[in-house]
Amino acid sequence: METNNNELINKSIREELAKYHKIDNLRKYAQEFFEQLVKETIDGLNTNILPIRFYRSSNTMGNCQQNGSYESKGKQNVINIYNCDFRDMIELEEAVRHEIIHYLLDMADLKHGDKDGVFHALCKIYNAGSYLPMGEYENNIYNLFFKLLESKKDYISLPRIIMTTGSKKKELIDELLTIHYGIAEHAIVLKTDVGGNQM
Ligand SMILES: [Zn+2]
Repeated sequence: METNNNELINKSIREELAKYHKIDNLRKYAQEFFEQLVKETIDGLNTNILPIRFYRSSNTMGNCQQNGSYESKGKQNVINIYNCDFRDMIELEEAVRHEIIHYLLDMADLKHGDKDGVFHALCKIYNAGSYLPMGEYENNIYNLFFKLLESKKDYISLPRIIMTTGSKKKELIDELLTIHYGIAEHAIVLKTDVGGNQM
């Protein structure tokens, strides 16, 4: 009897430990991904600062997707990852990448919303799931992002593409869209947009 009890206790302790290890591994993964992302995109950000919290269960405050959220309040920012006990590492790592991309763009003072073209583009590159559909305008920016990237000209590096397509200055984007698509071509692009309701 006693042995059985001890076995049960040992089992629950082992399970608890495994859950802590999981969060520990996630924290390491988040730091490594953030460092890789900064190196490849917006070099120069301080990678020592990564405000991220891991919750073992759900938190209904999440307003972005249920696996995580990004809160930006003035200069205070925090990434939340939920349900660490109940979701597998693949899902949790995707949530980590998704929220860190929000954070990266925000720290670089770029557009960083779930419906922004630059956000969708980075989620595509880093397989970070973007679930909220873009409007027509942001979809054009998204297309422009990959058009620039695929042009593979030396002076158009990934960091530069991110800085321009993510810019909060609408004039800059509009000028780029006009240069790269021209009026007529731009109209064609609009027509073929998925979900676009252009005539
Ligand atoms: Zn999001």
